[in-house]
Amino acid sequence: MHPKSRELFERAKASLLAGVPMNWMVRWAGPYPIFAAEGRGAYVTDVDGNRYLDFCLGDTGSMFGHSPSRVVDVLRDQIARGITMMLPTEDSVWVGEELARRFGLPYWQVAMTATDANRFAIRLAREVTRRRKILVYNGCYHGTVDEALVDLEKGRTLARKGNIGPPVDPKLTTKVIEFNHVRALEAALRPRDVAAVLAEPAMTNRGIILPEVGYHDALRRITRKYGTLLIIDETHTICCGPGGYTAAYGLEPDMVTLGKPIGSGVPAAAFGISRGVSERILKKIKLDTTDESGIGGTLSGNALAVAAMRATLQHVITQAAFDHMMPLAERFEAGVARVIRDHGLSWHVIRLGVRVEYRFMPTPPRNGGEAAAAKDPELDRLVHLYALNRGILLTPFHNMALIAPDTSESDVDYHTKVLDDFARELID
Ligand code: PMP
Repeated sequence: MHPKSRELFERAKASLLAGVPMNWMVRWAGPYPIFAAEGRGAYVTDVDGNRYLDFCLGDTGSMFGHSPSRVVDVLRDQIARGITMMLPTEDSVWVGEELARRFGLPYWQVAMTATDANRFAIRLAREVTRRRKILVYNGCYHGTVDEALVDLEKGRTLARKGNIGPPVDPKLTTKVIEFNHVRALEAALRPRDVAAVLAEPAMTNRGIILPEVGYHDALRRITRKYGTLLIIDETHTICCGPGGYTAAYGLEPDMVTLGKPIGSGVPAAAFGISRGVSERILKKIKLDTTDESGIGGTLSGNALAVAAMRATLQHVITQAAFDHMMPLAERFEAGVARVIRDHGLSWHVIRLGVRVEYRFMPTPPRNGGEAAAAKDPELDRLVHLYALNRGILLTPFHNMALIAPDTSESDVDYHTKVLDDFARELID
């Protein structure tokens, strides 16, 4: 079904390292990645003309659909009127006001990627607290942020397996603990050397791991007690609603970071800071050296990116979209639960807003360590390949499905049917 993709992959090997423009793209199931021809709404078509129902949605980058038409119209217009000018545009003011309204933090800055937003938030946290260390959870992912590319092994912080060229021993920069472990959190913050906790409010990168009841209250109380800032990374948890997990569950972070879908896939990200942090940092931003602060980039806040953010916030990441997507996500979850039950599989399905995931273990893990122990890479690849061959894209690295505004009931039911067939063949 994929001769043209194979041909392109063979040709690409001569000019692209590993035959792909970015090394992650070889992680798709199968001997070579399919090459995309176009993406529209909840569908992708490859160069061989195969059409896929896309539950990966650019691993959240296009989770509200590929090329939403209202955004495309705005972008077409903006591209003709200047892409990057090193000057603020009116759209940026609208975006700042809207993000403040949604996330409850008064001041915002625009970056290019969620990785950037996290790196800059960490710098601000170090500067205002005069502390060096960052605390993250085992199994976290916050982008290519050196401090967060760590593993917890027998209580020790190690460079993550697969991390290429770690710049410093991560013990110097990072403490890592398990999620949902309040005592470990308090023990780690007690020495008052941690500038910030960088946290997804519910973990999503080793599968979905939900916070236990009371965990967020404890996290906020303990970070305040020891003068550690709390950075909430909403890049994936924007799947919980228009104001992410923060608004849906009333969190009170000192900073929020988010990227990926905020510009419908146009590179754009943002970070928000509290009044307290802003007062402490404004004093330190000396206007004549601000271009060498380590924060920002020439293209950060460019006209195209902020136009994309404005159009996306205005027309795409809306309550109306969530009102449509949420019942579909519930339907997806119920369908998978039925397959698990009908076939007596010791798997589970879990949902976070419009993000749903199934795992090959009977009960949801409480933390990254438990999630890693339950990994079954062969079965993972098999289910991905089985789905891909039947016209369904699941997110590589996990069995995760994102529901888009264009996903339909019959799309969801088709996935349930394919999973049911898979389970039957697997058992046979
Ligand atoms: N934060 C979270 C929670 C993420 O999952 C990711 C990427 N998967 C990032 C940040 C980084 O995003 P990007 O690669 O677009 O910089």
